[in-house]
Amino acid sequence: MYKDLSPEHVRAIARGETFCFACHPGVPCFTDCCRELELALTPYDVLRLRARLGLSSEAFLERYALLEAGGDEILPRVYLGMVDDGRGSCPFVTPAGCSVYEDRPGACRTYPLGRGAFLRPGGGVEDLYILLEEPHCRGFEQGDEQDVDRWLDHEGLRLYNAMNDLTLPVYQHESLAGGGALAEEQVDSFILAFYNLDGLRDRLRGGTLPLAAPLAETRRRQLLEDDAVLLAFAVDWLRWQLYAEEK
Ligand code: SF4
Ligand code: SF4
Repeated sequence: MYKDLSPEHVRAIARGETFCFACHPGVPCFTDCCRELELALTPYDVLRLRARLGLSSEAFLERYALLEAGGDEILPRVYLGMVDDGRGSCPFVTPAGCSVYEDRPGACRTYPLGRGAFLRPGGGVEDLYILLEEPHCRGFEQGDEQDVDRWLDHEGLRLYNAMNDLTLPVYQHESLAGGGALAEEQVDSFILAFYNLDGLRDRLRGGTLPLAAPLAETRRRQLLEDDAVLLAFAVDWLRWQLYAEEK
């Protein structure tokens, strides 16, 4: 996936436009794309993967993730670390395919499409798609007719996109446009809220998480029990921590 992003292999694709694509164990390039990747993980990707693997968020980050903070991007990035096997393989690829298939990251599901999502000034989210027709990918020879919506349904992307869109108010906050860097404690808050949900939950449970306002007991219980609800809370908490916004 995403090995050759030269302009001749990438084009915008309209919502109703069709393309031919299928990927299955019978393609001659099966799993070739699961190597040498710069695979950025979203908070929801990590939520799913660590639950799939039965690991705490911290154990997942330690074992599988690479953190990049302090570079060109103001907000830190978390990447899936590739294995040092001479081929830069994804830690989850096997000869039979993806070993975490039902919980694979959104970028893996979206390929050969790419999605850009943007907050609309008046509210809501607008998304745009590109089609990556990389020469190494033989899925285009398979003949199944797709369009963007069919592909989103086929790959189980509706939930992934909705959960990723929840985080846009943090990633696309207007104050980031001016550049600058986060303070160390802001980086820690970002990692805690978006990538260490178990740590956030522990702090909530132990009463050591600073809060803009006290939580009702029913709300607190819901946050302790449901990862997706906790991630939505984490977005609001980070907006307060990073941008002094209270909801
Ligand atoms: S997570 Fe699965 S689909 Fe994605 S790169 Fe790894 S093996 Fe391939
Ligand atoms: S068809 Fe494309 S997506 Fe599927 S395994 Fe081959 S390179 Fe990867």
